[in-house]
Order: sequence, then structure tokens, then C-alpha cells
Amino acid sequence: KNKMRKKIVAGNWKMNMNLQDGVALAKEINEALVADKPNCGVVICTPFIHLASVAQVLDQNVVGLGAEDCADKEKGAFTGEVSAEMVKSTGAQYVILGHSERRQYYGETAEILKDKVQLALKNGLKVIFCCGETLEEREGNKQNEVVKAELADSVFNLSAEEWKNIILAYEPIWAIGTGKTATSDQAEEMLAYIRSTVAEKYGKEAAEDTTILYGGSCKASNAPELFSKPNIDGGLIGGASLKAADFKGIIDAWK
Ligand code: PGA
Repeated sequence: KNKMRKKIVAGNWKMNMNLQDGVALAKEINEALVADKPNCGVVICTPFIHLASVAQVLDQNVVGLGAEDCADKEKGAFTGEVSAEMVKSTGAQYVILGHSERRQYYGETAEILKDKVQLALKNGLKVIFCCGETLEEREGNKQNEVVKAELADSVFNLSAEEWKNIILAYEPIWAIGTGKTATSDQAEEMLAYIRSTVAEKYGKEAAEDTTILYGGSCKASNAPELFSKPNIDGGLIGGASLKAADFKGIIDAWK
């Protein structure tokens, strides 16, 4: 296992909590991790409305903050949208882009994502870029080509310098919120493949330095096994990031 590469456990709260409950959870996570320092980077990604308040209760040396999305436009008359610059101004340092729920339910295409990634990086955010295949694609043994295309179409246009601010997250769609985790071998196999495609594009050294996460029904009980694999650098956590004890259980898998 590459010890130098940054390990990260990131929470993805999705649309689950009101402001008060979100701030309370952030406080609880922060307190637990300040008292018992994690052995990895920790990030919580929250709805836009939580960002500014959550930023005030986090020690961002211990727990980083991110958004779950940002706009594909820079500024102007785009009612209801939130730009990368606005996200950054809350104190957030990360943004999840390309989550399968955004692609599936909100029509986010590779082209749109390419613009979002550019704007996020331009505004000093680190991007957690998600990729992953459907069950049908896996059953047709198309997972490698699907994931490679998702990367090629939205992030492989970046410069080597820009690439340093990209974190990848492989989330097989059939494993998200289903309780059906990819086996650690399936996850490792895909992450090794992703790393090899990054190496083809940016070189072996950059690929070795790229943090690649697994996401999809990751929890405290399966995290140690997943994180023991050579190419898995942590997790993107949905359901199990909504309770401090569950989330910390996953973070502690790095101890
Ligand atoms: P899950 O979600 O952990 O609830 O499966 C993961 C994600 O969608 O990021």
C-alpha cells in the first residue's frame, strides 16, 4: 500500500437533514475527531444551506467541508443555482461532482460536468469526482469502458497541475444505498484499473499520488476489509455518514 498517498473518508449527507440537525451532527463529528484524531483526511459534504453554519463549528484542520454540487455557470441570471465561488466563500474547500444521482435524476451530462469541474478548480475547490456503472453495465461486463469514458469525458482534459486537486470516487450505482456493497475484490479491481487509466493519461507518478475512494454501502463493518486493499484510499459515505458514531467507526478503520 502506498503510504504517502492521502487517505480520505468523506461523508455525503445528501438531502436528509434540516439546518439544525445538520449543525448538531457536524458539531458531534468535530468533537469526536478533535478528541481522537483521525489517521486519515476527513471531509463532510453537506447541502448548500448548511455550509456557512457548519463551517463555523468545524476545525477544518481535522474535518474538511465540502458541497455536494455546484453550478456549471460562473455567475449571473441562473435562478436557484449556487456557483463554485459562492461555495468557496462559505469556507468549504471541496465539492462532490458527477455523483450518479445528479447524472441520473438531474440530467448532468459529461459536458456539464466538465464545466463544473473547471469552475470548481478555478475557484480553489478540490473536486471529489464520482464515476461508476449501472448493474446492467456490470452484467454486460462494460464497467471498465463506462468508467474510463466518464473520466475521459469530464476530467482527462485537465492539466497535470489541475489534476493534483482531483480526488476520484468509484461508486457502482448498484451499490449505492442498496446495502449491496461491491466485494473488496471487485472494488480493488476497479480502483486498480482506474489508477492504470490515470497513469496512461498523467503518468505513473501522478497516478500513484491520486487518492481514489470507494463508495456504495460502505460502513464500519466492511470498511476495514475495503481499506486494506492496496488501491483503495478511503470511502465516500452516504447513509453511514448521518450518525457520528457510524461515521467515526468508518474513520477508525484507518487506525
Ligand atoms: P451510500 O451512498 O453509502 O448510502 O451507499 C454513497 C454515496 O452515494 O456517496
